[in-house]
Amino acid sequence: MDHISFIQNTLDLSTSFKKSSWLLANGTQALWHSRGVVEFIPHLDFDSHSAVVLSSGIHGNETSPIELLDTIIEDIQSGELSLSHPCLFIYGHPAATHQHTRFIDTNLNRLFAHHQDENKAIVEIDLANRLMRSVDSFFTKHNVEEKWHLDLHCAIRSSQHYTFAIHPHNQHYKRSELLLDFLSRSKIEACLFSEAPASTFSWYSAEHHGAHAATVELGKVSRMGENDLELLSEFNEALRDMLSHADYFEQVPVDSTLVEYQVTRSIMKNSEQFSFHFPSDLANFTLFTENDLLATDGDVQYTAQAGGESVVFPNANVENGHRACLLVQKIEKTKTQ
Ligand SMILES: [Zn+2]
Repeated sequence: MDHISFIQNTLDLSTSFKKSSWLLANGTQALWHSRGVVEFIPHLDFDSHSAVVLSSGIHGNETSPIELLDTIIEDIQSGELSLSHPCLFIYGHPAATHQHTRFIDTNLNRLFAHHQDENKAIVEIDLANRLMRSVDSFFTKHNVEEKWHLDLHCAIRSSQHYTFAIHPHNQHYKRSELLLDFLSRSKIEACLFSEAPASTFSWYSAEHHGAHAATVELGKVSRMGENDLELLSEFNEALRDMLSHADYFEQVPVDSTLVEYQVTRSIMKNSEQFSFHFPSDLANFTLFTENDLLATDGDVQYTAQAGGESVVFPNANVENGHRACLLVQKIEKTKTQ
């Protein structure tokens, strides 16, 4: 193989996967490790201090980030985009894309806590194990100062912030200023700070590899081939800048335009009686004032806390014991500079 189509080759489940590696005209090494996982290592005359993981399609029907990464991979292969850091690209769940669903048996983005025993009954378990191994070997091979992982998603729900990121709670850093600066440069509108460890893919890379990592929500989705990537042009440009400039992370930070939120709590669904007291198509970040009733679960009532809370990712249809929504509060920024 001397060229791959990130989308077509990943989605073609009729042929068994074959590992391959080849050299691009500019000396960049391409390694097609496993289905949906491709690494590019540029031939550089300096030491790169960064290594970047970009993942997409962890939820199979969230297709616009997959298409965005596909255009970047095409441009790397044609020589139009020359990399300054090794990069690992991931398209996580092609089988779910075929079924136009987020997942098949269970939400893949809750399975990155640790490697689990093989389980043929749940497709996502083997998938999560394989993706964690891919990230582990990439960051072991490129054991550099600045490790990065942006896990790209998009949504069907409307949102008061068209794009936003989730900054994982992890043992290495409270706030990654480098990450926040990148989010500002790429015109992501808001950032949520998690209040507790989560078992998401980006949390895994932050916790286990100290990566500057985030789940990035890139607006609304359409079917594969029908996404308007123009809506993501600022993010696309910033990402390409980051990938192609060795000194990208040494720049003076830009004035932040990010709206920051602290996650105050997660509401868990504990019974089949669980219901929200707002319409099911409520936009993300809708604000509720103190004492507003948000949800009931049998006899338990959930109301907004002092200062009000905004609702993000409400989903009453999750399994019992899973998160039904996040509640967040805006962080008022002090003007010290
Ligand atoms: Zn998603």
